[in-house]
Amino acid sequence: MLTRALKAGVHPDECKFTAGSQIQQFECPERLYVPLQQHLGRKAKPVVKKGEIVKKGQRIGEADGFISANIHAPAGGKVKTIEKVMLPNGVFDDAIVIEVNLESGEVAEPTWPMKPLSELTPDDIRIIAREAGIVGLGGATFPTAVKLTPPDNVKIDTLIINGAECEPYLTADHRLMLERTEGIIEGAELVRRAVGAEKVFIGIEDNKKDAIQKFDELLKNKSGWEVVSLRSIYPQGAEKNLIKVVTGREVPVGGLPFNVNVAIQNVGTVYSIFRAATEGIPLVERVVTVSGDAVSNPGNFVIPFGTPAKLVLERCGALFDEIEKVIFGGPMMGMAIKGYDVPVIKSTSGILCFKRAVREKPKACLNCGKCVEVCTLNIAPTRVVKFIRAGKLEEAKNAGLLNCMECGCCAYICPSRIPLVQWLRYGKFMLRKMEAQK
Ligand code: SF4
Ligand code: SF4
Repeated sequence: MLTRALKAGVHPDECKFTAGSQIQQFECPERLYVPLQQHLGRKAKPVVKKGEIVKKGQRIGEADGFISANIHAPAGGKVKTIEKVMLPNGVFDDAIVIEVNLESGEVAEPTWPMKPLSELTPDDIRIIAREAGIVGLGGATFPTAVKLTPPDNVKIDTLIINGAECEPYLTADHRLMLERTEGIIEGAELVRRAVGAEKVFIGIEDNKKDAIQKFDELLKNKSGWEVVSLRSIYPQGAEKNLIKVVTGREVPVGGLPFNVNVAIQNVGTVYSIFRAATEGIPLVERVVTVSGDAVSNPGNFVIPFGTPAKLVLERCGALFDEIEKVIFGGPMMGMAIKGYDVPVIKSTSGILCFKRAVREKPKACLNCGKCVEVCTLNIAPTRVVKFIRAGKLEEAKNAGLLNCMECGCCAYICPSRIPLVQWLRYGKFMLRKMEAQK
């Protein structure tokens, strides 16, 4: 098998200490704080009231429009209230608070067709994704039903299953690929049917050789499938990068994968579709890697959405007195949370907990060009940031600001420790504000 690789990018220390940690079920807490905004698009509308008894899997928030997603109760219990909680991005938003009845084994009837997998039609599969609240679990949380509905004039010929997991520390997808392999394949077959793709690739970085081998064994006689070994480099798992590496096709600036006849889904997402189709369970929990030098019992856990970070960290032996930073997601693209009450949501691939570290102060730019070399989207970050610092937002936009995916490679490589990504985020925020004012 040939190993392919991204042309630019960086090689941060992998630190995948939990690669050997089998997935464990996290015990459901007595109280869950389930946010109505766990996805890209409009917030779900609450469909339960204070005092109402809910079953596990019952819809408690309804998608508000095409680009939105349903929210379900991760456990049975009583709706205590709807209150504001802090989300991983620091914004306060509505969450349904459930007093969990740990004795209740009742599960809500699925609101989608339950049939043998072979009988599910493309429309059935889209309904399952929509009804079960499934969103992209690679981090973007874009509603999956929308991605399964390409425009009528587009022919999808290729489906890519994203098993790259290129962020350091994270091993949740790795474990899922080892422990739920058949479910991932079946889920991918459903997506393939929904979008009408002939060819399916699964891209896995070669720091997960056991997963590559497992898929290779199971897929060797399956028509239309190919396992692609990827040389480990960050940010290979970003959609546009993976499409380029696997198919050689380039998604245009501002375009989407379907513009190059490709659909792409993360391994966790297709597994969730499989679970909804076979067990009738909507997306109410996910595998989360808990790691970092400030936790003594790291691992991979299936955690119900709405579980506060504090409980997860306590369970994993966090050294609270020594913590400097807790990140939801990976260290490159994740978000540093501002309080331990932040709940686990659909985008939470990891909870990383770090001790205090000595920070170097930013120095002047050396014009070394390293940030330009590593950017996989051919942006010159130093130039864009100069425009932002000078308040020249139109010029920053013309230099590619909005194309930046905030992968962090430029800041990582910068010898002057200039916080390039923070500037790029700030520039985008100011540009959107300026355009809204117009
Ligand atoms: S400019 Fe944006 S896309 Fe390019 S390396 Fe920096 S953060 Fe990544
Ligand atoms: S890597 Fe840092 S020092 Fe080098 S050109 Fe880019 S911003 Fe300047």
